[in-house]
Amino acid sequence: MPRPDFPHVCDPLRAFLHRVIRPIEFACRDAHAHLQTVKNLDRFVSEQVIGALGEHVYPRAVEVELLSLRNLFVDFYTRLTPAEQRDRLTQAFALLRRLQDGESMIQPSPVIPTTHQPPPIPLSDDPPRPLWELSIQFVKGVGPKRTILLQRLGISTVEEALWTLPWRYDDRSVVTPVAKLVPGGIHCVCGVIIRAESTRARSRRLSILDVSVQDATGTVHAVFFNQPYLEEVLREGGRVMMAGRVVAGRRGWMDLRLEATQFEVLSGADDELLHVGRIVPIYHETKGWTSRQMRVLLHSLLAEHGGNLEEVLPLSVRARHRLPPIGEAIQQVHFPASDTDLASLDHGVTAAHRRLAFEELFLLQAAMALRQRELKEERKAFRFNPQAEPLKELARRLPFTLTAAQERVWREIQADMVTSRPMNRLVQGDVGSGKTVVALHALVMACGSGCQAALMVPTEILAEQHYLTLKPLLESVGLNAVLLTGSGKTKARHAVLQQVRSGKAQVAIGTHALIQKRVQFARLGLVVVDEQHKFGVLQRKTLLDKGYQPDVLVMTATPIPRTLAMTVYGDLDVSVIDMLPPGRKPVRTMLYTEGQRHKTWQLVGDELKAGRQAYIVYPLVEESEKIDLKAAIQGAEELRQDVFPTVQVGLLHGRMATAEKEQTMAAFKAGTIQILVATTVIEVGVDVPNATVMVIEHAERFGLAQLHQLRGRVGRGAHQSMCILMASYPPREAGSRLSPEGSPETDRSHAQQRLAALVRSHDGFVIAEEDLRIRGPGEFLGLRQWGMPEFRAANLVRDAELLELARQEASALLAQDPRLTLPQHQIFKGAMLRRWKGKLALGAVS
Ligand code: ADP
Ligand code: MG
Repeated sequence: MPRPDFPHVCDPLRAFLHRVIRPIEFACRDAHAHLQTVKNLDRFVSEQVIGALGEHVYPRAVEVELLSLRNLFVDFYTRLTPAEQRDRLTQAFALLRRLQDGESMIQPSPVIPTTHQPPPIPLSDDPPRPLWELSIQFVKGVGPKRTILLQRLGISTVEEALWTLPWRYDDRSVVTPVAKLVPGGIHCVCGVIIRAESTRARSRRLSILDVSVQDATGTVHAVFFNQPYLEEVLREGGRVMMAGRVVAGRRGWMDLRLEATQFEVLSGADDELLHVGRIVPIYHETKGWTSRQMRVLLHSLLAEHGGNLEEVLPLSVRARHRLPPIGEAIQQVHFPASDTDLASLDHGVTAAHRRLAFEELFLLQAAMALRQRELKEERKAFRFNPQAEPLKELARRLPFTLTAAQERVWREIQADMVTSRPMNRLVQGDVGSGKTVVALHALVMACGSGCQAALMVPTEILAEQHYLTLKPLLESVGLNAVLLTGSGKTKARHAVLQQVRSGKAQVAIGTHALIQKRVQFARLGLVVVDEQHKFGVLQRKTLLDKGYQPDVLVMTATPIPRTLAMTVYGDLDVSVIDMLPPGRKPVRTMLYTEGQRHKTWQLVGDELKAGRQAYIVYPLVEESEKIDLKAAIQGAEELRQDVFPTVQVGLLHGRMATAEKEQTMAAFKAGTIQILVATTVIEVGVDVPNATVMVIEHAERFGLAQLHQLRGRVGRGAHQSMCILMASYPPREAGSRLSPEGSPETDRSHAQQRLAALVRSHDGFVIAEEDLRIRGPGEFLGLRQWGMPEFRAANLVRDAELLELARQEASALLAQDPRLTLPQHQIFKGAMLRRWKGKLALGAVS
């Protein structure tokens, strides 16, 4: 048997072995003479193993060894005799040496652990209907009412139900007889409720439910506080499972009490097999639908349909990455074999979890690769001329020279534009890195070659600003620009539309309005999308549908971590402007509370005296728009009357008429307004280099990326700038210990983490990584808002490595079968189209 190659195993594994072997070796030394001096080996080994498995995905053989190492130390101090301890230590030492020598890697373990028998395939003459076509509504025991509840959890079909993974697991595999309970341990007991008594302490509005559970060996108490509804559930005579920590009562060991954190009412023999005596899956619940019901449903779905799950992954891919077959993965992820490591389950890193996550990522990456390939095969109707006269002229007119990074990115864009293939490129560059001027070059090159170009931005204010800065430059090189937004006078708008249609207007700058029905370009050759993250994924198809086939350049100021970039922008070529223009000083960032308000105004006042300008930013969210707007208006009023009576204070918010907004912005740019009070309308793009101080009110209500963007409005000139975050947190809730997701407690802690991250760092990349970590991938940058479907098994933070593998495999697959026509890829292709076709506008493959 050839020795399998595991190059990636070595380093983390070596580090692990190095850490673990030393204490064990020491304990073994001199005929175990030091055994008594080495303490807490059990915890140490367990933590190390879990840590190692969490950090790195090892080959199955190594994983098995690591888990058996951990098992050697279970109950090490509580149950084992000294002789047994010595024996375990010797075994552990041998195992570690074996791993060090790489022996276990030589013996290949089976690719697929076969702990579980796949459910029997029902006998039937007809081929079974595919599971994605089986509506959950017609499943036995579901019905119309529950269908609605399940839909709330994102489940409409049998397939979706099977892919709804538990969010954690409880280990109820060992049921302890009551007589064997030991105070201090966490145990699971099963028995009959022989007494259930509820008392109410009227004065304190406290309700107590005292339950006695008896099994064949004894009786134990469990007490529940303030959960009156449990009286209905935990009734005398009922059979229950309860689990939690065992504590000694007033009479010590004579009356043990169970601090039950979980319980389950058992109603039949089947129940006992499903809800206890195993590792039990815990699902997300919704009102009217419990985790337990989900468990029952999934158990029966698996029995009936588990055998009909389609294997989407090619065998070779599965073998290479040791991924179990789909039926087994789904079975194991819901009802894991009893020897599965609980922490690996909870972290979602078991072989079954990995397999499911890989499938999702693989389908997505293949879809992305296909789309990119399609694009590469397209031919555009025109080529752009790098020698165009206006382009040369532009170099003479620019007030500054490009930074090296701008130069490089511009060359990359130029290289795309001169070929016959359409450009589909993303420019990433932190706030203030100077993306506009790079876009300007592309606009000039397109128009200089006889085409029209469009610059699309997310807000009217930004459109206006770009128009004001770019128009003079464009005109100086002989090009004509128009502004096209949603609002504006009909007559003027008409004229602009006419110019665009005739081709007289060469550059059109505007909002979404640019790609609306009424707008017709004569010869659209380039579309630049600025601040792309605010738009959602631009469907290139929208442009194609209108009969255009332009080059597309998207720009974003929010640097996103590589994993997300691969997911969201998987089919774009990426350029990065990783350098700020010379002379920029990092913005000093301060975190103040309301008590330091006077200091804030003092700092602002100092800047104003020095001739600089200031932004005061107020949050504005839709749900509380009226109140927020009032706060901003009041804030402006106060500043005008009380704080800075001698300066001009302007107000800017989304509800103002376009003309008024334009006026205010222009006045601020010209310096006739010194303080601009604004809502988040100024979040993106706005560029007034003389503004050097920004105060962000209620900073705790903003997202991290948003704060970074806002802060980017200052520090755009040579002057030292600062950003003052005014934070007021919601008061801590008295006595709240638990902090489930979405509670005031988590909100508070997330807000604190966000603000601290912002004070610490100026690097958009670091901030984005931090944001991803705090919020998790679903919420990060509003993946949902982008119309990206959620993953069911994959997690972009956890599965970065898996994503990379999936990407490689996907491109290998397409290299072999570019149009997915081979018969063995049909199931895969079907699954990919089902999941991604609508979202990614896959054209020719379908
Ligand atoms: P962003 O990448 O955030 O869109 P902008 O394009 O608005 O950044 O540029 C920020 C500021 O930097 C603008 O005032 C712009 O004129 C200036 N700028 C851009 N490139 C350079 C450069 N190479 N040298 C000096 N200033 C520059
Ligand atoms: Mg910009």
